[in-house]
Amino acid sequence: MFSDTHAHLTDEAFRGRIDEVVSSFRAAGVGLVINIGYDLKSSEESAYIAQKHPEIYFTAGLHPTDGEPATEANLSAVRRLAAMPKCVGIGEIGLDYHYGGDREEQKKNFLAQLSLAEELKLPVSVHARDCTADMLEIMKGWMKRLPAAVLHCYSMGAEAAKLFVRYGCHFAFGGAITFKNNRQIYEVAKVVPKDRLLTETDCPYMAPVPFRGEVNEPKYIPLVTEKLAGLYGTTVEEISEILLSNAKKVFNIRDIK
Ligand SMILES: [Zn+2]
Repeated sequence: MFSDTHAHLTDEAFRGRIDEVVSSFRAAGVGLVINIGYDLKSSEESAYIAQKHPEIYFTAGLHPTDGEPATEANLSAVRRLAAMPKCVGIGEIGLDYHYGGDREEQKKNFLAQLSLAEELKLPVSVHARDCTADMLEIMKGWMKRLPAAVLHCYSMGAEAAKLFVRYGCHFAFGGAITFKNNRQIYEVAKVVPKDRLLTETDCPYMAPVPFRGEVNEPKYIPLVTEKLAGLYGTTVEEISEILLSNAKKVFNIRDIK
C-alpha cells in the first residue's frame, strides 16, 4: 500500500473533484494521504476533507510565505484545529528565503509553531528553501523536543542530509526525484537510511515523470515509490511497506492497517 504524506487537496486545482481524486488514488493502491494546511483557511478545509474520507488525515499550520503570522490569535486557531481527532501534525511551517522577505519574522513564526508542536506532542511538516544553515541550526536544537520532524520535498543536498539524519529528522521525497536532471538524489539516498524515508506528492505541484508539468495527484505516488525502490535496491512492495510504516510511526496513525 502506498502513502502520500504531503498533499494539498484544498487547492483550486481539485475544486469540486475531491471524490474523484479519492477514488483514483484508492484504485492506484494509495491507502494513506496526509493533507497539509498552510494557513488557517486551508487547515480548516483540510480538517473537513479528512472527516469525510477514512484514509485522509491532516495537519494545521502557517506556511512561512503565506502571509499569516503566528500571532496569539492565529496560534489558538491552529491549536483548536490540532485538537481534532484526525489532525496528525503541525505544518507546513518553516523557512523560505527564496523571495527575500523578513528572515527574523519567519524565524519567529517558525519557532512559535515548533513550541506549539512540542506542547501538543505533535510532529511537524517542514518547508525549507534557500535556508540550509538556519534550518540546520534550528533542527539541531529542536529535534530533542519534538516527537518527529519531516523535511518535506527535501532539497538541501547530501552534506546537510548527513546532519539532519544525525538530528533525527525524516525526509519526504516527491516527483522531483523522477526528474532527469536531479542527480543530487543519488547522493542523498546514500546517506538517508530507509527508516527515515517518506513519500509525498506536494500535489497539485511537482507531478512525477511522465506527468511532469501536469496537475499532480496522490494517485501518482507509485511512480515516486518505484524510483525510491530503484535507488535503495528493494522491490516496490518492500519499500512501500517501509514507507507506510514510517508514515504511521511519524504521524502516530494507528487506525490504518
Ligand atoms: Zn506543501
